[in-house]
Amino acid sequence: MNPIVLVTVSGKDAPGITSELTGVLAESQAIILDIGQAVIHGLLSLSILFKLDPSDSSKATIKDLLFKAAELDLKLDFKVFHEEDTHSPLLTSPHRYALTLISDAITGAALHEVSKILVDHHLNIQTIQRLSEKEFSCVELQLSANHPPQEKALKIELLSITQKLGVDIAFQAEGLFRRAKRLVVFDMDSTLIQNEVIDEFARELGVYEEVARITHEAMEGKIDFNESFIRRCKMLEGLTPKQIDQVYDRLEITLGVEDLFNILKKLGYKIALISGGFRSIASRLKTRLEIDYVYANELIFKDGSATGDVVYPIVNAQRKADLLEVIAQQEGITLDQVIAIGDGANDLLMLERAGLGIAFNAKPAVSEQADMALNQKNLRSVFYLLGISARDVAGALQ
Ligand SMILES: [Mg+2]
Repeated sequence: MNPIVLVTVSGKDAPGITSELTGVLAESQAIILDIGQAVIHGLLSLSILFKLDPSDSSKATIKDLLFKAAELDLKLDFKVFHEEDTHSPLLTSPHRYALTLISDAITGAALHEVSKILVDHHLNIQTIQRLSEKEFSCVELQLSANHPPQEKALKIELLSITQKLGVDIAFQAEGLFRRAKRLVVFDMDSTLIQNEVIDEFARELGVYEEVARITHEAMEGKIDFNESFIRRCKMLEGLTPKQIDQVYDRLEITLGVEDLFNILKKLGYKIALISGGFRSIASRLKTRLEIDYVYANELIFKDGSATGDVVYPIVNAQRKADLLEVIAQQEGITLDQVIAIGDGANDLLMLERAGLGIAFNAKPAVSEQADMALNQKNLRSVFYLLGISARDVAGALQ
């Protein structure tokens, strides 16, 4: 059996190191099985896994490599295996995951707590990569495991340190579907915009207090959406198009939306807005932000003002999820290729239906049930969850 050798070279990076070392391997006709290299702040770490030629019984190749490394002022460690070794680096873990950490500034404590949990769940860290540019605000850990972890228990543990350490942690299976997303579906109120439009309409009519109280309860999932929606719409009787204009003018688009849409479109994503709010606002956002699909509720107008009635069927939690599926079918993609982002209890079914459901600054009940929760103010952090770095984003925006 041919011995297998793993060499690890470290030291100050300089041009030509890989070329010199692989030159030794070429001369000895070693068969390279794997190679990996990282340069972090000018320090090189290079690993090469290779099979020795049977004639190389004296391990001359290793000696040559040690000699070459000394010449290049590098440190070289090596380990010899046999193919059937249980610790052979050839035995790879079949399950792969990506864990993303996002915070204003990621602390040592956060990294420590996360890696401790990963050990408990038998998850191995393969690589750590910073995705943010200037600040240390996002890292992605590529993980591997021999057996799938207990995702529910893992998620609960991660969520508990999320609150304690003020970081967002996303854990997702790594693989083709993570990279093959095609459609992003957004909720409108408190997701794409910072307001609840129904409350703003109510403000125009002087019934803000009553309506906002019901909206809050509905979004926390404490009361039935349909019933509460109909009740609130009744209070909007008399609303005029001019008042809708005034509300539209003071809406605050969530930070990062323009950049996010800009790049998603460049990457060929389709964007949908599915809202339990109102079409009179959603359709204007469609034009302004060039959204591909828009579904929302519609107030009925008569003689120049709202009657307090709405068009049926009401876009509620169930309908949001169904519409997401309709759009996916129309686009000819699978649900695994869909990302849904929302904050309210009426988004939960839609977040569940999508391959990736993101609770964005959501109510606690929503965050706990979604695939992942983002508590960042800026929607640009969605890029990080897709594994797109800040540098790539900046390059694409130029
Ligand atoms: Mg919402």
